[in-house]
Amino acid sequence: MADCVFCKIIKGEIPCYKVYEDSEVLAFLDINPNTPGHTVVIPKKHSANLIAADNSDLAKVLVVIKKIASAIVAGVGAQGFNLGVNNGQAAGQLVEHVHFHIIPRQAGDGLVHWPGHTAKPEELAKVLSDIKHKLG
Ligand code: 5GP
Ligand code: ZN
Repeated sequence: MADCVFCKIIKGEIPCYKVYEDSEVLAFLDINPNTPGHTVVIPKKHSANLIAADNSDLAKVLVVIKKIASAIVAGVGAQGFNLGVNNGQAAGQLVEHVHFHIIPRQAGDGLVHWPGHTAKPEELAKVLSDIKHKLG
């Protein structure tokens, strides 16, 4: 897509700090990292989000994530990582080219986990029923 920032990175029109590249997948350092080593992994084929992406492209991206995540974690001296996808504007998706975030983590790094609440059984049952109706 001509006006897609990640497609421009793929084409070399915008420079990046490239972590990994093959014919179908590209990984590069996020310019606004949550922690050192924060890496964005994308299929080279443009699709707006996870739901629109080809299954085969997603599978290839996940295999690359598995291949590079340990080196990223070790390279920055972290102990683990979060793997994230923001899907849709409401979820914080800013770039409409499907992408996965690898965010290295170490104990006490200050990143805040998503808050949860203790749900009542009837709340969980209602939500499950609503989802199952949509699953068909
Ligand atoms: P989103 O919020 O869409 O899940 O994440 C998009 C990510 O892409 C953000 O973390 C942002 O910092 C990163 N990003 C946006 N533009 C560029 C860019 O031109 N180069 C790089 N390396 N990262 C970018
Ligand atoms: Zn794109």
